[in-house]
Amino acid sequence: MAFDHLRADCERCAALCCVGLAFARSSDFAIDKPAGQPCPNLRPDHRCGVHDRLRHAGFAGCAAFDCLGAGQRVTTRFDGRRDDEVLAAFHVVRGLHELLWLLTEAVELAEPGPVRDDLEGALLAIDLLANGDLTRIDVGSVRAGVNPLLVVVSQRARTDPAGPDHRGADLIGADLRSADLRGASFRGARLIGADLRSADLRRADFTGADLRGADLRGADLTDALFLQGSQLASARGDATTVLSPSRPRPAHW
Ligand code: SF4
Repeated sequence: MAFDHLRADCERCAALCCVGLAFARSSDFAIDKPAGQPCPNLRPDHRCGVHDRLRHAGFAGCAAFDCLGAGQRVTTRFDGRRDDEVLAAFHVVRGLHELLWLLTEAVELAEPGPVRDDLEGALLAIDLLANGDLTRIDVGSVRAGVNPLLVVVSQRARTDPAGPDHRGADLIGADLRSADLRGASFRGARLIGADLRSADLRRADFTGADLRGADLRGADLTDALFLQGSQLASARGDATTVLSPSRPRPAHW
């Protein structure tokens, strides 16, 4: 299994994210923009007019966003169209690609056996879904179907030691400096603005965790599970943040 087809390739995309997504004016977006309306920074050639200075221009949310390859897949399938049907398809395929990304990592973590077989089956099934009738797909239901598999893989990977269970926790602004959080579960946790400086986060599970503005300077994220580049890009880190070699280091760290 490879992540290659789950990497955004903006050169092959009709800027679906810059049109299809809604923004609310905030520290992440300098403007309000409804879904379906092209961003005023979008150029006629589908490129971003402020790409080289997104953060300084007030669009840190764009710098952190990752379509996980959904943009080029939908653009190719719908011949570069950008109408309502295509934008709706982009939302669905983005959700399916996120599940494919999680399942791909889970396959790499799982030992050979029934769970790994089920993971590989789910990967193939969801990839087929992404090529089918997208109007009939409820991504939430698909996610609910594969979540038990992902949880099993996570639990098996976090046994030495099994860390604290912070699933779905509200940890906004929490002071977790230098905390021993090895093997913790942060599935769906809100860690916005949390102080995780010098925390030991080895093998912690970050599935769906909101890390916007979390301070990861000096933290050790070696072998962290299900930690996406977009989550890292939304957090604060620097050269002292330890990542596994397979995790891309955000350019602004
Ligand atoms: S600022 Fe650039 S990347 Fe963000 S939505 Fe607008 S055109 Fe797209």
